[in-house]
Amino acid sequence: MNNKTALIISAHAADFVWRAGGAIALHAEKGYEVTVVCLSYGERGESAKLWKQDGMNIENVKQARQQEAEAAASALGVHDIQFFDMGDYPLDFTPEARDRLVDTIRSVQPDFMMSHSMWDPYNTDHMNTTRFVLEARMVAQAWGHKPGQKVLGAPQLYLFEPHQTEQMGWKPDTFLDITKVWQKKKAAIECMQGQEHLWQFYTNVAENRGNHFRRNSGGQAGGRHTEYAEGFQSVFPRTVDEL
Ligand SMILES: [Zn+2]
Repeated sequence: MNNKTALIISAHAADFVWRAGGAIALHAEKGYEVTVVCLSYGERGESAKLWKQDGMNIENVKQARQQEAEAAASALGVHDIQFFDMGDYPLDFTPEARDRLVDTIRSVQPDFMMSHSMWDPYNTDHMNTTRFVLEARMVAQAWGHKPGQKVLGAPQLYLFEPHQTEQMGWKPDTFLDITKVWQKKKAAIECMQGQEHLWQFYTNVAENRGNHFRRNSGGQAGGRHTEYAEGFQSVFPRTVDEL
């Protein structure tokens, strides 16, 4: 029997850590093979601390970011991490890059996918990534695209939590308890030496979402105790036999 699989598409090298690190570690523990695609290293826009060092250049920043992302991926139990090196601020969405992502989606055949919020006025790389992912998912489902390859089914696309939710029109409909793997997510976060200013913030986010998990699972009338959680917004309806 094949393992279940998941595919996480991150605009920049660190996004998957803050926003989906718990989901990745949890599903890896459950036996999923999780693939992470980083469309860029975030070398220009999300590496300020590195650029403040004397004599820094773009190749060294990219290399440092790749090493951090690989270390974080390994802390989370990621099966495979791929770097598309599409440049950042802004990302360059070429037809070749789309074709590569379609190939990756078809080869992984994910049970679920994750990417950014649909709207992000602070960071168009994030929202354009989601548009790009939706387009690639659609192409991967097309029987006439590279006939003979295995066509994609209909994996859910979960939108992971952006930095400032109310500005992004992001509204979670799913809370995932990540208490059990919090130490792994924390270790992955601490691999992101270039963005130390975000460590405490994303710890707070996980604690607050833990509170929302408790409340939505029953609150004081039988809710489940949860220390840390991640929130997600799903794009597609669920198909069920019972409510
Ligand atoms: Zn980013």
